[in-house]
Amino acid sequence: MTSVHQADKPRTRRYRGVSYKRRIDAAKEAVQTVELADRLCGPGGLRRVGKEWIGRCPLPDHQDRSPSFTVNPDKNVFFCHGCLRGGDVVELARHAWGYDQREAHTAAAMLLMEFGHELPQRPSSWFTKQERQHNTRAAIEETRRNIRCRRLFEHLILPLINEIEDEEEHARELERAWTDFQGLLQ
Ligand SMILES: [Zn+2]
Repeated sequence: MTSVHQADKPRTRRYRGVSYKRRIDAAKEAVQTVELADRLCGPGGLRRVGKEWIGRCPLPDHQDRSPSFTVNPDKNVFFCHGCLRGGDVVELARHAWGYDQREAHTAAAMLLMEFGHELPQRPSSWFTKQERQHNTRAAIEETRRNIRCRRLFEHLILPLINEIEDEEEHARELERAWTDFQGLLQ
């Protein structure tokens, strides 16, 4: 299993902090430490002693001869007395599948998939941003249309209006023509 996960290890991408955290939280919520430990240790690999489950350490770089690996289901954590590693379910996944500390979000994603859970969807802020960008694009398009409209007006209509000598009539005709022209181009 270890080699498969390491081979498939996706390249680290820069997500925003919020996505990292959501995925890690989702994995912790969805998978109990003892569930992953049980899968890593294999059938009969863990036995119950008091409040804890104990077995030989399943982490790949620890050849554990005596059972040093413990899981406390109440606290939802593991600790190995041999290699002195411990932590929550994401930490266990990270150590088991060879991800470093900065790749905890990837370990969390693998963990969710491994246990058949969906990855958290994009945060709502992502959709808000998309909408904002869409609105921005629409605003830019409208500005471009207005510029084209004004330039056409200047080129096609304005010379005719500028022939009017009476100032008042010129102003009135200019306003009327501009309104008509905009209406035509809508
Ligand atoms: Zn260990």
